[in-house]
Amino acid sequence: MTRPTVDVEAMAAGVREHSPAWVARAITLVESTRRDHQVLAQRLIAALTPDGGRSHRIGISGVPGAGKSTFIDALGSMLTAAGHRVAVLAVDPSSTRTRGSILGDKTRMARLANDPAAFVRPSPTAGTLGGVAKATREAIVVVEAAGYDIVIVETVGVGQSETAVADMVDSFLLLALARTGDQLQGIKKGILEIADVIAINKADGPHAVEAKAAARELGGALRLLRDGSSRAASVLTCSALEGTGIDEVWAQLVAHRESLGAELVERRRRQQVGWMWAMARETVLARFTTDPAVRETGRDVERRILDGSLTPARAVELLLGSYDRMTP
Ligand code: GDP
Repeated sequence: MTRPTVDVEAMAAGVREHSPAWVARAITLVESTRRDHQVLAQRLIAALTPDGGRSHRIGISGVPGAGKSTFIDALGSMLTAAGHRVAVLAVDPSSTRTRGSILGDKTRMARLANDPAAFVRPSPTAGTLGGVAKATREAIVVVEAAGYDIVIVETVGVGQSETAVADMVDSFLLLALARTGDQLQGIKKGILEIADVIAINKADGPHAVEAKAAARELGGALRLLRDGSSRAASVLTCSALEGTGIDEVWAQLVAHRESLGAELVERRRRQQVGWMWAMARETVLARFTTDPAVRETGRDVERRILDGSLTPARAVELLLGSYDRMTP
């Protein structure tokens, strides 16, 4: 049986015509790790890139349970009601390991998933962080070409995924929780440095007062931390559940992007340089580890290391030697 081939021109045209079905298929193509699909995906991205770049790209992070999906559902619905078109993508390397809570799962964003002005895409369920990040960057190009003017990239607050997301968006929002007194839960210093806006969620009912106190405390701490050398993140409170404070968070995200001014173009160019190196590293690594000569040499040197007749350093030389001989 011959596999159906992908008509890249038809796909690009379908995406430009805002067809959600074509957008979904295009993202499936950029997520595919098959070599022939990757080649087609690059043609698609090249065709769509001139139509991209017109959205406000927003990263949203927070620990599981912080209220990301509730918040995105509320924010996204508010924005589509105001005439925007909203795409939600996700970078979630944990789902590749646990297959657990998959971000961007449509059941988590009930209103938005049924909103014709919104496009919700679950995170890819396979691949390395590098691979998932690459697919998401390309998915951004796809949804922008399809006319979504607000792109939200959701990620869980673990490991390197926040940095990967910060490298693909204009503004980064951290959703945090205030619990037990003034203690802010699960906020690492690294994420405070990349957050442009911080919203203490669940500021409702009995928690409203402590959320406000936590926001004040964190706002003050951040101003000290940044020491006037760069913009301090604004800290607000909101309740995704009750829909309060969402408009203020949005206003801060818009203000952040406006404050970038001409820097935005430069920031996106710098991001592209970063993507190039990330992609180059991924590609070289993939070629090296799948190279037949490397695999054969690998089996041989592994055995010799195990029986003590070879040092790892010498084995690496042999591996690279067999790779270099096989590549032009
Ligand atoms: P996620 O894991 O970060 O996506 O968090 P969810 O959006 O799934 O929310 C986790 C739980 O917190 C759910 O039971 C929500 O109903 C609840 N939740 C989310 N936002 C709020 C909020 O603003 N206030 C309150 N009280 N609960 C909330």
